[in-house]
Amino acid sequence: MPLPKFDFIAPETLNEVYELLEKYGEKARLKAGGTDLLIKMNNRVVTPELLIGLKQIKSLDYIKYDEVEGLRIGATTTLSKISSDPLIKDKYPSISYAASVTATTHVRNSASVVGNLCNAAPSADNAPALLALDAKAELSSKKGSRVVRLEDFFKGPGLTCMERKEVFTELKVPVPKPNSMTIYKKISPRSKVDIAIVNVGVMVQLDGDSFKDMNIFLGAVAPIPVRAKEAEKVAKGAKVSEDIIYKIGKAASDGASPITDVRSSKEYRKLMVEILTRRAIFEAVSLIQMKR
Ligand SMILES: Cc1cc2nc3c(=O)[nH]c(=O)nc-3n(C[C@H](O)[C@H](O)[C@H](O)COP(=O)(O)OP(=O)(O)OC[C@H]3O[C@@H](n4cnc5c(N)ncnc54)[C@H](O)[C@@H]3O)c2cc1C
Repeated sequence: MPLPKFDFIAPETLNEVYELLEKYGEKARLKAGGTDLLIKMNNRVVTPELLIGLKQIKSLDYIKYDEVEGLRIGATTTLSKISSDPLIKDKYPSISYAASVTATTHVRNSASVVGNLCNAAPSADNAPALLALDAKAELSSKKGSRVVRLEDFFKGPGLTCMERKEVFTELKVPVPKPNSMTIYKKISPRSKVDIAIVNVGVMVQLDGDSFKDMNIFLGAVAPIPVRAKEAEKVAKGAKVSEDIIYKIGKAASDGASPITDVRSSKEYRKLMVEILTRRAIFEAVSLIQMKR
């Protein structure tokens, strides 16, 4: 089926985008790489009259880092750039890895990490690791900008806290905590580039031989990526041991309520939550210990 008819404008400044969003409201959609949006249009899930292309706005394509603000990624930065960036590989390996296992090479060459988040699929590859790192979204409009924790960003499948007139302009990731490591794990039916049936982002911070802090986020087990709160409680302050890591994995699984769908049964998803969480923690602990 051909795409429905639409107009396309590719402004060179954000101010032009804000004006267009003010004028067209619900009738307009922003397009970054278009790898989600055009498929939805083809399937008539969305039928905007106007597409506003963001790729001509050169100031939205960047990766910046400093020791105070941490990592900042512009809205149109592609998954390919993120996965191959040496600084991200070094300081945020889980972000690099998640980007590298999202979709295929040709999709990653045009798709953005911000588009992946705005699409708000429960299985989005880039959400769990970014959530575990307490990343934030800068949302901008004609009225100004606000910064929202990614944890408060997702509202349902395909739904976010963004207003129609807002643009997700920058992804902000804090400087990693001392003695910490974040790991991303996914399992998918056919290959690692396939959509995840379960994915997990875990941030582990050690204090000597104990868990000082742990963030665990699970994808594809609920309408939005969710925090495994009970499992985090099991970890906090506990001495590192094989036994406790198994208990944390079990608590993450016990707290998850996935559904059965075409990709997996709920039982398999629960089992995979336990195994992936456990593996992520083991890997994080050994990488922190190796750095000492
Ligand atoms: C073959 C194929 C395989 C795929 N495999 C995977 C996979 O393994 N894992 C996975 O997670 N995803 C996968 N995807 C989905 C998709 O590639 C990603 O979600 C991608 O990162 C989307 O980015 P994009 O720049 O193309 O977004 P677009 O399609 O341009 O936009 C997606 C949505 O976000 C909105 N949007 C985009 N940028 C902004 C912005 N700056 N501010 C506000 N709203 C914005 C758009 O209006 C649209 O609603 C796959 C897609 C295809 C086609």
